[in-house]
Amino acid sequence: MREVKVDYKKIGLKVGLEIHFQLDVEKKLFCDCSTKMEEKNHKFVVVRKLYPTFSELGELDLAARYEYLRDRVFFYYFFEKECCLVELDEEPPHDVNLEALQIALQIAKLFNCKIPDEIHVMRKIVIDGSNTSGFQRTMIVGFDGYFEYKNRKVPIAQICLEEDAAAIEKEENGKVYYRLNRLGIPLVEISTGVLDGFDPKEIEEIAYQIFLISSSTQKIRRMLGAIRQDINVSIKNGARVEIKGIQRLGLISMVIEKEVERQTKLIEEGKSVEKETRAAKEDGSTEYMRPLPGAERMYPETDIKPVFVREILKNLKIPEPIPAIVERYEKDYKLSKELINSLLKSKYFFTFDRIVKSSGVDPKVVANVLTATIKEIERKEKVEFDLDDKKIEEFFDGLKNKKFFKEAAYDVLKEMNKNKEASLEEILENLNLKPLSEEEIKKIIEEEKKNVKDRSKLVGIVLSKVRGRADVQKVLEMLKE
Ligand SMILES: [Zn+2]
Repeated sequence: MREVKVDYKKIGLKVGLEIHFQLDVEKKLFCDCSTKMEEKNHKFVVVRKLYPTFSELGELDLAARYEYLRDRVFFYYFFEKECCLVELDEEPPHDVNLEALQIALQIAKLFNCKIPDEIHVMRKIVIDGSNTSGFQRTMIVGFDGYFEYKNRKVPIAQICLEEDAAAIEKEENGKVYYRLNRLGIPLVEISTGVLDGFDPKEIEEIAYQIFLISSSTQKIRRMLGAIRQDINVSIKNGARVEIKGIQRLGLISMVIEKEVERQTKLIEEGKSVEKETRAAKEDGSTEYMRPLPGAERMYPETDIKPVFVREILKNLKIPEPIPAIVERYEKDYKLSKELINSLLKSKYFFTFDRIVKSSGVDPKVVANVLTATIKEIERKEKVEFDLDDKKIEEFFDGLKNKKFFKEAAYDVLKEMNKNKEASLEEILENLNLKPLSEEEIKKIIEEEKKNVKDRSKLVGIVLSKVRGRADVQKVLEMLKE
C-alpha cells in the first residue's frame, strides 16, 4: 500500500453521478400493483425469449445486441398481488401514477430544475431481460437544475421518473431468473452534470446531499437496494469509465479512488484506458462488464398520452429542504451536529419536529430518546423498532404529563414496541410504573432510612427504588430535608 496523497485537481478528475431512489408509494408507475415486495413465494414462472426489433434498434451497435439476445431465455417469477398483465407485457401500461409524478416534480423543484410543459413517456432499450417489454419506460420531469454545496453550484443535468427493472433472483447455467415484483416500482433518477474540481470525499458528500434534498419529500425508500448509484469517472489521459450498481452512498469515494488508481496505473504503464462499463463490488473495487454503450436511444411510448403539468404544478407543495431543517434544528433547538446526524439516520427525523412542537418536551430529551434509546432497544432486545408517529406522540404526551419519568423511557418504549395494541396506561400498569405520590415517596425514604445509615448510599438506593416513577429532582430535594 502506498500512502500517496493524490492531487485530484491536478490529475483532472471528472465525475458524473447518477442516483436512483425508489419512491415510497403504494402503487406502481403504470399499474395498480403493490410496491411492497412482501410476497414470499411466486405463483408461477413465465419463460420468455426476447427479440430485438430492427426498426427500434436502428443501426446502433445492432450486431452486439442481437448477438447478446440470440438463444437467450429468461425466466420471470410472477407474484400474485405484486404483478399483473402489465409486468408480463401482455397489457399496455396504464396512465402514469399521479402521486409518483407529483413527488418527482417536487424533487425537480427542490433542485431548481426547469420543468417541461408536457411530460412524455419514452422507451429506453434494455437488453438484459430485466424488462419483459425489452425497454424501460422513463420520462424527463426536470432539467438544468442545481443546488448549493460549499458555496458552489452543483449542476443537476436531468431528473427522470422511470420504472424500476425486475430484480435478478439467480443465474444458473446461463439462464437468468428475474423477480417481476420489482418491475414497475416508481424510481427517480437524478443525474448531475460534470463534477469538476471536487475530491472523492466531496463527491460522496454531494451524493449524500442529493439523497437528503430528495428525502425532504418524505417519500424516498431507505432500505438496502432501494437506492442505487452509477458513476462516471475520468482523469486526464484516461477515459470515461462507467461504474454501475454501487449499493451504498458510503462506497462512492472508495470506488472513485480505486478507479483513479486503476486508470493512473494503466497510463503509467503506457497502456491506454478503454471506455467501458464496470460493475461495482461490495468492497469498492470494480470488474469489467462490457464496452461503454453509445448514447442511449429513446423512442416515444405510443401507449401513454403525454401529461400536461401546469395544473399539477399549481397545487404542488414544495417541502422544506432537509438542509434548511438541519439549520433550524441547530438554531432553534440548539442540537449538536452529532445529534442531528443521528436523527438523520433514524426514521424519526421529521417526527422529531412534530413531537417537539406538539408535546413541548425538551428537544434534547426528545432527540436522545428517538436516537440513542431506540438504538439501544434494537441492539439489546434484538428487535426492529417500528412504532408509528401516533404511538411516539402518545409516549411523549405521557412523559410531558408526568404519567411516567424519562428514566423509564427504555422500558416503556420497549413494551410499546412489543405490545402495539396496548394503550400507554395499560403498558404503565403492566410495568408497574404508576407515578408515586409524595406520601409514597416519603414512605420509601423512611423505610430505607431504618436500614441504611450512609447518606450517599441511601440516595442511591432510594433513587433506584423510585426509578421511572418519580421526578428525580424532586426526590433529591425530599432526601435533603
Ligand atoms: Zn401490475
